[in-house]
Amino acid sequence: MIELSGVTVRYPNGVVGLDDVSLTIPDGQFVVVVGLSGAGKSTLIRTINGLVPVTEGSLKVDGAEVAGASQRKLRDVRSGIGMIFQSFNLVKRTSVMNNVMMGQMHGIPAYRSLLGAWTADEKERAYQSLERVGIVEKAWTRASQLSGGQQQRVAIARALAQDPRVMLADEPVASLDPPTAQMVMKDLQRINRELGITTLVNLHFLDLARQFGDRVIGMRAGKMVFDGTGAEADDAV
Ligand code: ADP
Ligand code: ADP
Repeated sequence: MIELSGVTVRYPNGVVGLDDVSLTIPDGQFVVVVGLSGAGKSTLIRTINGLVPVTEGSLKVDGAEVAGASQRKLRDVRSGIGMIFQSFNLVKRTSVMNNVMMGQMHGIPAYRSLLGAWTADEKERAYQSLERVGIVEKAWTRASQLSGGQQQRVAIARALAQDPRVMLADEPVASLDPPTAQMVMKDLQRINRELGITTLVNLHFLDLARQFGDRVIGMRAGKMVFDGTGAEADDAV
């Protein structure tokens, strides 16, 4: 469960990224956050992940307070959160397998990953994650040789390999063409249904939000201005 209570985030330059946001996301929910550029969507995700400090209010992830938490505590919280980005953030010059392995290498010396010194369990889990997004046949392809949609699927597999309780996706389909965007959204939704991972997806297209949001949160100027179903979401932006 993710619980925000009166959360305000002010950046060092004085810009308010989140303005008194209160929001509870129960376990297993699939939530789409919509809003124009600058609305605060990515601040919301980065705050939940402990990358941006909470200025005021309380933010709990599975009961653990993130506001004012130590770096060590934040690392614990982050280890349960899979992140997906607009630009995929893969290491392009290495294999898909290496990229997925990095998902479960939290806190393990990087040389093991570089040497491919993985345990049988780790390898098995990486294959399973790739299978879940239907891309296991690309395991030994260089990430740079994949299309955008395939790269985003690898990024999803990398997040899954971490065995997260929460998935945070910051505009995961913004750089994909519409049919590919549909596929990636369907992957995220299916994974949410199959594994019960609480999922928060930022989108700036209302049509995708209508289609995929069991619950749609609308943001404007750092404030939450809408909380409803996809079918009601016409006024969300
Ligand atoms: P998006 O709209 O996709 O969230 P942006 O282009 O707004 O991305 O931001 C890209 C990067 O620049 C982010 O790391 C963000 O934190 C940073 N950034 C955005 N706005 C500002 C700002 N006014 N001052 C400093 N950094 C900013
Ligand atoms: P969105 O993801 O909806 O595009 P953001 O969360 O990126 O919105 O931005 C919300 C507001 O916070 C914007 O005014 C943006 O310029 C500002 N902002 C984002 N990141 C930073 C940053 N690192 N430093 C200062 N201002 C930022």
